[in-house]
Amino acid sequence: MDLSDELIEALLKTAKKARENAFCPFSGFPVGAAVLTTRGKIFSGCNIENVSFGLTICAERVAIFKALSEGERDFLALAISASKVVPPCGACLQVLSQFVSSLQKFLIISSDEEGKFQRWTLAQLFPCPFDDL
Ligand code: ZN
Repeated sequence: MDLSDELIEALLKTAKKARENAFCPFSGFPVGAAVLTTRGKIFSGCNIENVSFGLTICAERVAIFKALSEGERDFLALAISASKVVPPCGACLQVLSQFVSSLQKFLIISSDEEGKFQRWTLAQLFPCPFDDL
């Protein structure tokens, strides 16, 4: 499924809005994310840091887990908003890979504050996910 420009814009806008809620006193690097499900729903997330650093969670996984907790199980695209264009980390890519029908078709769009953006497929960023299912 090709995503319309309007849908991509809505995803980026949702990610940017979610970034406002980031809790990142340690890194000072707020990130917002938005994930699009195959049922057409959008879920957002922001990074949430903890004084016990290992408990920190990325914006991407917050968005994905929110969607999963609402019964969603298949995703089409992910948008990220940060001060610079960044791909998801490896942990988020692994989580994502478990809930997409096609690594080749899943789209990841990352945007900075000036609207500069980059897009990848999940296959480009994470060609060999762990899978024992
Ligand atoms: Zn991550």
